[in-house]
Amino acid sequence: MMDLSDSQIERYARHIMLPQVGGEGQSRLLSASVLVVGAGGLGAPLLLYLAAAGVGRIGIVDDDVVDLSNLQRQVIHQTDGIGVAKVESAAARMRAINPDVVVELHRLRLNRGNIESLIAPYDLVVDGTDNFATRFLLNDACHFGGKTLVSAAMLRFDAQISTFKSHLGDPHPCYRCIFREPPPPGMVPTCSEGGVLGALAGTMGSLQAVEVLKELLGIGDSLSGRLLLYAALETSFRTVKVRRDPDCPLCGTHPTYKDLSHHPF
Ligand code: ZN
Repeated sequence: MMDLSDSQIERYARHIMLPQVGGEGQSRLLSASVLVVGAGGLGAPLLLYLAAAGVGRIGIVDDDVVDLSNLQRQVIHQTDGIGVAKVESAAARMRAINPDVVVELHRLRLNRGNIESLIAPYDLVVDGTDNFATRFLLNDACHFGGKTLVSAAMLRFDAQISTFKSHLGDPHPCYRCIFREPPPPGMVPTCSEGGVLGALAGTMGSLQAVEVLKELLGIGDSLSGRLLLYAALETSFRTVKVRRDPDCPLCGTHPTYKDLSHHPF
């Protein structure tokens, strides 16, 4: 348990006065580590809030550079950062918000060869990517690696979020218990193909940040076993119960996936 300095007590005062957090919870956050995959629409508010909250070590995985078309939603990046690596652009903003936070940059694309060693040094992993291949790869690697995964996805005006901790066994489902395999390429458009309301990324990335902080602090009801659906045009939130599927090829009773070799890259 680390002692908080006077300036930390002031910085985190609104956390510390919450009985569910307190000085002990804030110290826990400062000792915690989170890997965020994707410094885009979801990653932008997520990274800003995790840094502001004082999560002690935050890793960012992204191989892209800031593009003018990103700025409609990726609020961690700025117009004068166009052309800069997203991990660099995001890290600069996070360090400016909170010098307590160690930001670790991973400028690369996840694949089945590098993912296990990347997630291993972190307490928790967050999926802020925009493609099914990486989402399934993250799900499988987190299951094998014993990591809790907070995963969200969005398109146009609709979004979803859940937390997966299938490594803990029954009753916790994994992403594959809901969506067995990735859809055929081209069937479900990405945000770059289908569009997305920028502020929806703010809602969903912020929801991810809240769920990450809850998991790190061990407070409240985990989203594991529930899928939260947000329909922005109807302004409706709906929660669907999700069960662990005994026939799941990853976390079921007779899994057929025993490593990551079934992934195309
Ligand atoms: Zn499963």
